Amino acid sequence: AQAEIGLIGLGVMGSNLALNIAEKGNKIAVFNRTVERTHEFVEEAGALKDNIVPCATIEEFVAAIRPPRPIIIMIKAGEPVDQQMELLRPHLEKNDIMIDAGNANFRDTMRRFDALKDSGLTFIGMGVSGGEEGARHGPSIMVGGTEDSWKRVEKVLTSIAAKYNGEPCVAWLGENGAGHFVKTIHNGIEYADMQMIAEIYGILRDGLKMSATEIGEVFATWNKGRLNSYLIEITAKVLEAADPIGGKPIVDMILDKAGQKGTGKWSVIEAQNMGIPATAIEAAVAARSLSSLKGEREAAEKILGLPAVAPLSVSDRAAFIKDLESALLAAKIGAYAQGFAVMAAASKEFNWNLPMPTIAKIWRAGCIIRSQFLDEITSAFTKAPDAANLIVTPAFADMVKETDGSLRRVVSAAVLAGLPVPALASALGYFDSYRRGRGTANIIQAQRDFFGAHGFDRIDGADSHHGPWGSGLGAGA
Ligand code: NDP
Repeated sequence: AQAEIGLIGLGVMGSNLALNIAEKGNKIAVFNRTVERTHEFVEEAGALKDNIVPCATIEEFVAAIRPPRPIIIMIKAGEPVDQQMELLRPHLEKNDIMIDAGNANFRDTMRRFDALKDSGLTFIGMGVSGGEEGARHGPSIMVGGTEDSWKRVEKVLTSIAAKYNGEPCVAWLGENGAGHFVKTIHNGIEYADMQMIAEIYGILRDGLKMSATEIGEVFATWNKGRLNSYLIEITAKVLEAADPIGGKPIVDMILDKAGQKGTGKWSVIEAQNMGIPATAIEAAVAARSLSSLKGEREAAEKILGLPAVAPLSVSDRAAFIKDLESALLAAKIGAYAQGFAVMAAASKEFNWNLPMPTIAKIWRAGCIIRSQFLDEITSAFTKAPDAANLIVTPAFADMVKETDGSLRRVVSAAVLAGLPVPALASALGYFDSYRRGRGTANIIQAQRDFFGAHGFDRIDGADSHHGPWGSGLGAGA
């Protein structure tokens, strides 16, 4: 029998995804640019070999797959994907489906989708989250493309996806770039989650002067409560791990410079393009950039010193640690609310009709931000699918009211002690701005009218649209 699906790119993600596909009883044809890797892969596959058809040439590969052929391309994102598609295209037939499963920018996905529109071929942009382990045993999969192409791959993808209480973490989310867009926002939220954890870690390390091992215990305890999630779990494990050289906590030996590959930045750019505030995600991306300026930071500490403030003073340590837990939950709500608001705006902008409860559902297992919390988001959006924002759904409004006091106390204490908490503070600022019906932009509008004659609306609806500024009116730019 022919293979049910094909896969190109036997790197870290591709080889694990291929093994997962084969293990679930699907026959899969595989191809890699460097053919030695294909041989190696088949050797590593063990008993799964029977479901794998290794191919040395593209011709052989295409012939091995049952039409219409779904072909997963899991290679280095960007230009290589276009090159691979060009090489593949002449060998394909009507209704064959090229599936980019890498971390593509959704704008590239839209372009690739459009380029194939009249060719008879089609394209799926598919976000895959869960790293190596997820690819091998069950990732979260976000699919964008035509509904027909989705139907062709639904069975295989459902078989390999992570399961949350038996429900597969894969869904068709909409046309063209929908899947890669949702994956991008997943990663943006992941940046915020990670940064907020890092800020809380900073308060415990530099404020309460706790050791890595002690902090690890705090996170391990939190993982049993409302913060239960993969990122909290691995943070506890990371903090408890010892350096093989010297035996000290490994985390104390790791340079404080964080890398980034682009998805966080894209989340922020797209949020800004649509005028949607995503301040906690922005703060997280900026914090990674600032982390990479290690040399500048060290030089600045020599010139400016650390802030000349009183050290963090906490009379009841246990109560403060409880406050940190609630503060982290509150800030997390802010970040997720922003991520979902960005997706809601993009859904309108790109006509995707993104299903919010389904997105929360397929993030409950398999992906990096997986957590129990996402089950609560699923339920909130199922009950209130048209809510303007997650934080005004009844369940989350209650959670914000219950936890924002802790966030306020923690941010205040950190600021007064000179400890940086940009993402936590952004989430708090977002709540405080979003929940205030009468803000302060009246003064901005007055200023804009004063120097640029931009005009303003009046609260009484009366139609005097310029202020009595006299000669200042229209004086500048
Ligand atoms: P690897 O570096 O492990 O593998 C890269 C693969 O791409 C190799 O098979 C390589 O082939 C192939 N390749 C590179 N350039 C070309 C080209 N020009 N033409 C054809 N093939 C090419 O990458 P990963 O598996 O880590 O990542 C693959 C994709 O998955 C990326 O888009 C990444 O962002 C995404 N991703 C990665 C995650 C992770 O945790 N690693 C998680 C989620 C998504 P060759 O052997 O010939 O060099």
